[in-house]
Amino acid sequence: MSPALFVSDGQVRARPADLFPATTPEDWHEHGDLVDPTGRLVFEVGAFLVRADGYLALVDLGLGETRADTPSGASYRGGDLIANLAAEGVAPEAVDLVVFTHLHRDHVGWTSTGGALTFANARHVVHRAEWEHWQRNPSPLGPDPVKVLEPLRERIEFCVDGDELADGMRVIETPGHTPGHISVAAGRTVIAGDVLHSPAQLDHPQWCFGSDTDPERAAESRRRLLDEYGPDMVACGHFTR
Ligand SMILES: [Zn+2]
Repeated sequence: MSPALFVSDGQVRARPADLFPATTPEDWHEHGDLVDPTGRLVFEVGAFLVRADGYLALVDLGLGETRADTPSGASYRGGDLIANLAAEGVAPEAVDLVVFTHLHRDHVGWTSTGGALTFANARHVVHRAEWEHWQRNPSPLGPDPVKVLEPLRERIEFCVDGDELADGMRVIETPGHTPGHISVAAGRTVIAGDVLHSPAQLDHPQWCFGSDTDPERAAESRRRLLDEYGPDMVACGHFTR
């Protein structure tokens, strides 16, 4: 298995205090290198590409075609994933497996194109608690019912802790950010999903993200993953470095 490769779909920028509600502007002074000239944190969005003998897998699917700015000064830019996969020699029909760490909108953006699954030949896998949560609690933060949930309905497969999704790819339940959030061990890497949003949380694992459904449980999952695997093994799609 080759190391998991992050493939970008775009970037999100937003003010630190809007994203990490328990932090103050002073808390971020020591992390000035993470902030752009407009005072916003920069987050990558995209997918991890895992290549192993006999299969191609993607973990998460970016934001999708998006160009939006919010009144609070956040910006959302996505849409580059398919071109960046092509640059890696990967066509959508060649992908065998799509795993969702969770179903927030910045992780499911390329689920469908024109009403059909973008990665038409792939198995699509999520934790059952995640799927059921968004059926019951639709939200603009979550998956679009028409573009994400409906195209997946007949195809979605469910996983639990410890499942081997493919040779060397194993599910690690890491709930808290969302109820059915998972991380994925792939060879020597653990693709952490949104267990971590910013490298600042390596120093401050108690800093919770504003959209955590259960911040205490999220912090517990973060500490557990870092204790077990260490920061060097953990790969985070929202980190810019
Ligand atoms: Zn995210």
